[in-house]
Amino acid sequence: MRIIKTLRELKLRSAIVYHDLDAGAPAVSMADMAIAVSGRTPVAAYLDTAQIIAAAREARVGAIHPGYGFLAENAEFARTVAESGFAFVGPTPESIELMGDKIRARNFVQRNGFPVVPSAIEEDDPASFILRARSVGVPLLVKASAGGGGKGMRIVRDFDTLKNAIAQARSEAQRYFGDDRLYIERYIEKPRHIEVQVLGDAFGNVIHLFERECSVQRRFQKIIEEAPASTLPPGLRERICETAVGIARAANYRNAGTVEFIVDGEEFYFLEMNTRLQVEHPVTEMITGIDIVAEQLYVAGGYALSFSQPDIVSTGHAIEARVYAEAPERGFAPARGKVLVLDYPRGRDLRIDSGILQGQQITTAFDPLLAKVIVHSPTRNEAIQKAERAMQELVLLGCETNASFLARILADEQFLSGQVHTGYLDENPQLTAGDSASDLSTFLAAAALLTRPVRDSADAVPELHASLGGWRNA
Ligand code: ADP
Repeated sequence: MRIIKTLRELKLRSAIVYHDLDAGAPAVSMADMAIAVSGRTPVAAYLDTAQIIAAAREARVGAIHPGYGFLAENAEFARTVAESGFAFVGPTPESIELMGDKIRARNFVQRNGFPVVPSAIEEDDPASFILRARSVGVPLLVKASAGGGGKGMRIVRDFDTLKNAIAQARSEAQRYFGDDRLYIERYIEKPRHIEVQVLGDAFGNVIHLFERECSVQRRFQKIIEEAPASTLPPGLRERICETAVGIARAANYRNAGTVEFIVDGEEFYFLEMNTRLQVEHPVTEMITGIDIVAEQLYVAGGYALSFSQPDIVSTGHAIEARVYAEAPERGFAPARGKVLVLDYPRGRDLRIDSGILQGQQITTAFDPLLAKVIVHSPTRNEAIQKAERAMQELVLLGCETNASFLARILADEQFLSGQVHTGYLDENPQLTAGDSASDLSTFLAAAALLTRPVRDSADAVPELHASLGGWRNA
């Protein structure tokens, strides 16, 4: 839907592929043309390159945009798209290959003189891996080269647990990515996650659209993002943004991408590069006024970037909150259900990117992201207030969401002060737990009292007392 929106604005037509289970999804009705792809599961269908190319031929498209997931970071897919005569809306297959593999990306970045966290890479010499890991020193983070979404990561604080953590990370990496190559990094305590949006074209121009801060995370996954970063030591923002551009330039990067860093005080280290449009891109669009999807399309169409670095200005503060179908209060258990009532907040400088409709069934087949609430205000405080109000106004009934959890974070003193790091939610379990247990029982009791059977039995004279006759009143 996000991509179709820009296509419409540019007066371009859209075609979408969908699996039967998604036939009722709003994106399918929004597109000018929709072509069914089949597979045992929707995931299998959306990963089927041959069917997608056949659909592209049928729709006679000029370009294929891979979206955010599935094939967006698949070099083979990008190559096949180009070889089939379509423009791939994304970087070259070579860039995806280089940056899609964390070990390769990390080595490349280090070779080019940019900062990375001290590490040990298993494939360099498997026999000495454990020994080399020990020399990095605890705490350590075991990571998967093919990792994503926080999968395949294990923190090690004590060498006795190292072997076990390696085994666990390896099996998780194999299960999720079919690739069990591992490496170990120094685990930075309480870092901030800061990333830079970059854009490159086919003529060697590379620019940045400033940074985003994504330090509010649960299990290594982002839930609230903002732009610009709340507070940074003087000069650090410039250094981080320039480093991101340097890395993208060294990689001969084309199209939109994100260079991610972890920041430890004044120090920062390359984490990874995402070679696609990211979920949190709207905060950057809000502060720069640039439609990143439109830029992706221009670059894929062979045009040069229409602006240079000094043309890009950052205004105000933007915040995005991710509304997930999950229950933070119950260990972030995934939620499902039918969307019975859906009413989004409205207002100036408030944007909702949503892929759901009233009446739609929410399943656990995909990522639990339901909608993104994005706000823009002159200052950070105002943006936070606006986001909090928006979370309170959001009505989504029929499927549990994390909306009240997001509202609790947005109202939290520590978040307001900008003193947030990636361990913030772990250190503040009360934000996750909420006080919903007691609220919920109050609401349930009130609701129960409004039903006929409960009211009748509450009003009725208990049988035992009735059988005793009227002596009590005597
Ligand atoms: P993924 O691709 O799975 O999202 P990333 O490498 O992007 O993995 O890291 C995700 C998150 O994990 C980071 O935002 C950060 O919170 C944490 N993380 C990754 N590497 C380190 C590290 N060396 N030290 C501390 N935290 C880290």
